[in-house]
Amino acid sequence: MTTGADLYRLQCLDSEGDAKQHRLAEIEAALVESEALKQARGALKSARSLIQRWALRQRDLELEIQGLSNKIARSEQRLYSGVVKNPKELADLQAEVAALKRRRQKLEDDLLEAMIEREEAETARSQAQAHLDEIQTRWSAQQADLRAEREMLQARLAGIEQARAALLPNIEADDLAIYQALRRRKGGQAVVRVRDGACGGCGVAISPSLEWQLRQEKPVYCSNCERIIVRI
Ligand SMILES: [Zn+2]
Repeated sequence: MTTGADLYRLQCLDSEGDAKQHRLAEIEAALVESEALKQARGALKSARSLIQRWALRQRDLELEIQGLSNKIARSEQRLYSGVVKNPKELADLQAEVAALKRRRQKLEDDLLEAMIEREEAETARSQAQAHLDEIQTRWSAQQADLRAEREMLQARLAGIEQARAALLPNIEADDLAIYQALRRRKGGQAVVRVRDGACGGCGVAISPSLEWQLRQEKPVYCSNCERIIVRI
């Protein structure tokens, strides 16, 4: 014979199992890389590529300026060497040197800008790195806590499963079927205790006939919410 007490024990195990499963699902979801961590990693990556871009630009400009300086030096050497005597040719040479110097000045301005941009990108990179380290540290600690909690939950769920398996032979198949159908319909709560002379599920008072049935220790059903009522 199925007793109300056994059904109530089954209900307690199943309710605890439901709650633990729910928490386990939350933990599994939290154990994947967090959005904040992904974002911090992305910010560091873009700061790094920005530095690289400005460093490349700086190197190109430096090479170009070096090339121009060499050219200016060669032209000035010719200009002051006395080899060129033709006034027209001298004037052309002077104009060429002046143009080269203007071009070099422009490139030097660009170089300065590239250096400033690179410096700013380096500051941004340091900040992004510090931010990522901070998030990573917090996340790792949280992960360790979550993993420990998951282990505990898994162990308890195995314990619940064992206790349930030991209890099931005491419960008749028909009663189990009713219990399971009620669990599905009543938000997981099929068995409730008497509370202050009323059904613990819906609060409707226990009638004298229900009270008499309760004393027989057999499963009793609430006439209002249909749940199994037990007095424990
Ligand atoms: Zn009820």
